[in-house]
Amino acid sequence: ERTVQRIAAGEVVERPASVVKELIENSLDAGASRVAVSVEAGGTEGVRVRDDGVGIPADQLEAAVAEHATSKIGDIEDLDRGVGTLGFRGEALYTVGAVSRLTVRSRPPDAEAGAEITVEGGDVGEVRPAGCPEGTTVEVTDLFYNTPARKKFLKRTTTEFDRVNTVVTGYALANPDVAVSLEHDGRETFATEGNGDLRSAVLAVYGREVAEAMVDVAWEPDGGVDSAHAAGDPDDPPVRRVTGLVSHPEATRSTREYLATYVNDRYVTASALREAALDAYGGQLAPDRYPFAVLFVEVPPGDVDVNVHPRKLEVRFDEEPAVRAAVEEAVESALLDHGL
Ligand code: ADP
Ligand code: MG
Repeated sequence: ERTVQRIAAGEVVERPASVVKELIENSLDAGASRVAVSVEAGGTEGVRVRDDGVGIPADQLEAAVAEHATSKIGDIEDLDRGVGTLGFRGEALYTVGAVSRLTVRSRPPDAEAGAEITVEGGDVGEVRPAGCPEGTTVEVTDLFYNTPARKKFLKRTTTEFDRVNTVVTGYALANPDVAVSLEHDGRETFATEGNGDLRSAVLAVYGREVAEAMVDVAWEPDGGVDSAHAAGDPDDPPVRRVTGLVSHPEATRSTREYLATYVNDRYVTASALREAALDAYGGQLAPDRYPFAVLFVEVPPGDVDVNVHPRKLEVRFDEEPAVRAAVEEAVESALLDHGL
């Protein structure tokens, strides 16, 4: 059973960035106003995420690292059919604990003391008292120490760190009201203020030059969205809103692409969104220059499929042409409003 557990874990926890993604989501779910991520050697040697959220009471620590749905992993054929069918939800800590040394330390704000639990390669230790600030700290070390094949698959630490950085940046920009910080080998990469302002989060993450090159995107369907999207309205527009920031082509000096896209506030990748945003620039960018874009797209929840694969963030739209058109129009008119 331990082997099956590790196979399943290897499928969904692919690399440090996937661990970081799950831990940040937990912190945000816990209502944190600060999330501090720190990694060693690109996350290959250590990942730590600390938050000031609701915490986990000592008597619930064991349940937090336990498998939520045993029946789903008992059968090797489940694995063959693809991990998508297993559902990663409710299993992140359990799955990470199966392929690393995991410590969860927590103190709910109303608790007098904190407690911690450690999992080593799936072996769950005792809950012990631990001194800690309010909130939760999750530490992962020796990722894949017991799955050498998976460990060998990791790339250079700079590549792994790039992916971690992309993930943390994605969540930082999606949650400007949360102070998100990232540290690599003891050095701060960025820290947002958590003041609720997207532009200020962009400034913290990408720097002043980029922040100053950004123009506002604000698009709604003709006639506005409020009248149209009463629940169940058959005329529900396929896209309710597109907002965010995109860089002014003349001020864009980036030699690589930075596009962060969100659907219904969920950080995703979708080639439709990326291509539509790039199309909006037409030929306006200098050769070998790429835009910065942070785009939030709101669609009716039933029109988007986010379950393509748990370890990927790729989504598909039922109304893809309409989504493409809306995003392209949104970015184009943002650039036009600035005389471009
Ligand atoms: P899921 O998030 O899908 O429930 P996880 O394995 O990621 O599954 O987490 C298991 C449980 O542990 C969560 O449901 C939550 O109760 C608790 N938990 C995990 N991380 C945190 C955190 N940072 N703050 C508070 N509770 C947490
Ligand atoms: Mg989770």
